[in-house]
Amino acid sequence: MSHNCSAVIITCMDFRTQPALHRFMKENGLIGDADVLSFPGGPQLLANDFNRNSKFASEMALLSVGLHSVRTVYLIAHDDCMAYGGSDAFKSRAVEREAYMTDLVDAAAEIRSLAPKLNLEIVYKIIVMDGDGWVVINFTEGDLNP
Ligand SMILES: [Zn+2]
Repeated sequence: MSHNCSAVIITCMDFRTQPALHRFMKENGLIGDADVLSFPGGPQLLANDFNRNSKFASEMALLSVGLHSVRTVYLIAHDDCMAYGGSDAFKSRAVEREAYMTDLVDAAAEIRSLAPKLNLEIVYKIIVMDGDGWVVINFTEGDLNP
């Protein structure tokens, strides 16, 4: 049995976002084909050198990439993340998402520095509240411009 999988998903542990994450994984054929690394704040830990948990998160990302030969890294932030103090900590939704995007870009740089020889595809996503539930949407720097 192969020990390889297609992707690693690095996301926040927040329980509110898990149904959306599971739907996203199912819709994209990632169930059973992706490592899921779930930390408080998710990619934020890789983006910042907060504490020993940051080192742990980096080591887990490298383990997944190396051990399971993943080629795609999903970095998933989410609205109202309490690792940032929640939405109330920001002046506006645009400012909030700018903070997430900054950290996703920094997390991507950290991952590339950990595995400089690998040609990893890094995909940014964000889990947002939509009506009654949370959904996963694409997240690009262009989304920050209203
Ligand atoms: Zn969170």
